[in-house]
Amino acid sequence: MYKTTIGLEIHFESKTKSKMFCSCANNPDEKIANKNVCPICMAHPGTLPVINEEAINNIILTGLALNCEIQQHSKFDRKSYFYPDLPKGYQISQFDLPICKNGYLDIHLDDGTVKRIRINRIHMEEDTGRLNHASDGSSLVDFNRAGVPLMELVTEADIHSAEEAKKFAQELQLILRYINVSDADMEKGQMRCEVNISISKTEELGTKVEIKNLNSFKVVEKSIDFQEKRQAELLDNGKKVVQETRGWHDTRQETMEQRGKEDAFEYRYFPEPDLPPLNISSEMIEAIRGRMPELPEEKRFRFMNEYSLDAKSVEFYIKDEVISHYFEKVISELKCWREDRECKSELINASKICSNYISTDFQALIKNDSEMKEYDSVKLEKKITAENFAELICMITEGDISSSIAKILLLEMYNTQGDPSDILEKKGLKQINDGGEIEAIITDVLSKNAKALEDYKKGKQNSFSFLIGQIMTASKGKANPQTVAEMLKKKLDN
Ligand SMILES: [Zn+2]
Repeated sequence: MYKTTIGLEIHFESKTKSKMFCSCANNPDEKIANKNVCPICMAHPGTLPVINEEAINNIILTGLALNCEIQQHSKFDRKSYFYPDLPKGYQISQFDLPICKNGYLDIHLDDGTVKRIRINRIHMEEDTGRLNHASDGSSLVDFNRAGVPLMELVTEADIHSAEEAKKFAQELQLILRYINVSDADMEKGQMRCEVNISISKTEELGTKVEIKNLNSFKVVEKSIDFQEKRQAELLDNGKKVVQETRGWHDTRQETMEQRGKEDAFEYRYFPEPDLPPLNISSEMIEAIRGRMPELPEEKRFRFMNEYSLDAKSVEFYIKDEVISHYFEKVISELKCWREDRECKSELINASKICSNYISTDFQALIKNDSEMKEYDSVKLEKKITAENFAELICMITEGDISSSIAKILLLEMYNTQGDPSDILEKKGLKQINDGGEIEAIITDVLSKNAKALEDYKKGKQNSFSFLIGQIMTASKGKANPQTVAEMLKKKLDN
């Protein structure tokens, strides 16, 4: 058995108003090519770069969120190489003194274990432009992205499977979004992964292959799976793995050679002469630490403890901040509704029921609504206010309405923005609690379902739930389910 060893290099664009070293707009959605350019990011002779403070604040926040040491003294370096989308002929990056060092990120694996992946460094650099390849074989250069602040994170070789690599990248993306330093949209190229992978049967690491420009979590996973097989096949056949850089070919679903061995010295790094060394005060670091919002891992822990939700539900809220904010608002309304009771177990039960309705029924309504392709808290509350949602949950937990009525009510609330008790009244959906009325429905249903009745008497337990279903349908979901169950049981067992 070969052991796989993987290190990741992940680039993500920093969300700032302007570019890294000039005042051009940093707008990833700009459609007009070469609109956001100036002599500085176009590297005209005699221009001078100026460090963007917002980008530095962002990388410090990122480093702190990823448990890194922030280096109070660092500097920028020139990394020289030629590429048509790089007007300077070099990229301003950081070589030996990155701003963030020695961090880590804990990831949750499918088997329930938590694994710590160490982060070697995160440094600051600038992005390149983009080449647009036309169908006639010509290529056009768009420099809107040239000079956009870019962070590069390098992990230690602590990763040993495609699953771990994918989970690391996903958790990183989540954190970047929580701290709002990057949208990290992989499809838009705002986050890009590179995988360094080797396999070996001994403690000594094998020859590593680099896979570049992986633009989705799926592709990260697939390219690792592919490389594991490819390298094992080579070694099994007595061949050698060649150190090289490969890319992912999506139509062929395999990695392809891009270029051969390439060493760092070819870049001829040297300190950037146009920029002063970077000194970051401890006050500045502490001020930024003070801005740290709740991180995904803290929120997981809080949601499990405060609301007793299971891991799957917690993950649903962790991934969608808008919906989790809405959920918590409904819970705080629920607390108001129940203030006079001060009954903790009831609130926990209500939280679970509330979570179920939000993550299934409410979520389905949103998904099927073309107006809600993108939504924020305001849009959600326009559909159903947190207060109305809390009232609905209250009606369910108090046993005032059955689950089938709750679904009808929720749909009506969503469509009309109405208050649940008003809708209940107007639509005549009020629960039937009257024994006589329920008795009449039961008698009627039993007379029409002689077979089920017989089966039940023969000991078929399924028939009981079948009959309950028939009675609930006959009452259009309005009969009090508990009363129905009690009365039916009494009737059948007599
Ligand atoms: Zn510029």
